[in-house]
Amino acid sequence: MTIFTKIINREIQADIVYEDDVCLAFHDVSPQAPVHVLLIPRKPIVSLDDLSEDDTVLAGHLMMTVPKIAAQLKLSDGYRTVVNTGEKGGQSVFHLHIHILGGRNLSWPPG
Ligand code: 5GP
Repeated sequence: MTIFTKIINREIQADIVYEDDVCLAFHDVSPQAPVHVLLIPRKPIVSLDDLSEDDTVLAGHLMMTVPKIAAQLKLSDGYRTVVNTGEKGGQSVFHLHIHILGGRNLSWPPG
């Protein structure tokens, strides 16, 4: 079980900004931008590499939820979404999550 399952189960505290039957979003504990939110499925999928055909609707739902959260957080000037996958991809929590970052100019390419 990862720390994110504990957040879903309310075993540890998080500043939740959005939730529905499929997913929830909360502020990152170590923000890399003025707004830094993590959107996660309730289902404990490890990473993008672990999605199955059964998760097609779930994956679409996550993607469709990003702009709702961005609007809620007033990121009208733009924002960055990041999905780190695997250790060399920078993933440190092995429960699929979409980073939503905004509130400052975001440079490219990322590190
Ligand atoms: P990753 O490195 O896997 O792409 O992103 C994991 C993110 O989870 C990191 O940005 C990290 O700061 C965040 N994180 C790790 N533990 C916690 C926690 O207990 N609470 C919250 N809100 N964020 C966490």
